Amino acid sequence: MLLKNRAMLSLGLRMCSTHVTTGTAVESAKPSSDMSEFRSVFSKAKHIAIITGAGVSAESGVPTFRGEHEKWRKWVSQDLATPEAFSRNPSRVWEFYHYRRELVLDKKPSAVHVAIAECEARLKKQGRTVVVITQCIDDLHRQAGSKHVLKVHGSLMETRCMSCGQVTVNKRSPICAALKGKGAPGLNVADAQIPVDKLPRCEERDCHGLLRPNVVFFGETLDSHILTKVEKEIEICDLCLVVGTSSIVYPAAMFGPRVASRGVPVAEFNMSTTPKTEYFTYHFQGPCGTTLPLALAQHESEAF
Ligand SMILES: [Zn+2]
Repeated sequence: MLLKNRAMLSLGLRMCSTHVTTGTAVESAKPSSDMSEFRSVFSKAKHIAIITGAGVSAESGVPTFRGEHEKWRKWVSQDLATPEAFSRNPSRVWEFYHYRRELVLDKKPSAVHVAIAECEARLKKQGRTVVVITQCIDDLHRQAGSKHVLKVHGSLMETRCMSCGQVTVNKRSPICAALKGKGAPGLNVADAQIPVDKLPRCEERDCHGLLRPNVVFFGETLDSHILTKVEKEIEICDLCLVVGTSSIVYPAAMFGPRVASRGVPVAEFNMSTTPKTEYFTYHFQGPCGTTLPLALAQHESEAF
């Protein structure tokens, strides 16, 4: 019965990034919160997939602009992070992303980022793998030292050319002279109205196209190249952790349930239960900065 219900969750991954609220059959068994039992499963896992979301960025003090209370000027993210908003007013959207880039450049990896990176390095010496599949668009997993990171929603620190499509890592501060000192978030701050030729431009030879942040805007589909890699990871992992994500943004919300549908243990670490908690084997409630380092610490059975 359990497996049958879980099999019903095997939805395709290639869905656009919209919210889906359709329910599926649910099971009544509650997930366990037995850490020593989880640790025993962890000690035997060979391929671990760790899915991270906004709660992990929040551990480093990065605002995620997900809720009504997290406005930039008078707008929420959904008003600005769209292809339509960017084509209508690229200056305003660039001000918003410039503000977010500068904030992130100022932040440091948290105990969660460090625990994940240390776990990857330690397990690698034992012939075991860790992959991070993240919805976060900051660079903190890499800064902490994680090597194998799949960023499903793109990166604040990358640009993409609207003309030639070139994607480039760009950590300049400010990203261009015209954005220097711009992007203040206060309610009454006026738009900088930067001319489009003074916004970040492509540096490829003979291109000079307008650059945009290489992030997935609302209403856009996810990068199929990244999704193919994610799909492979969720097919081969033998343990999955879902950390600091509310599991409501699709398709990432289905990654954990997809793993669970194969009968593989999935552990959720979050401040509260989520719409997907009931599908998982373990649920550890509380700040992931407290729970995750304990979960991923060296196990007594690990070979040296
Ligand atoms: Zn270009």
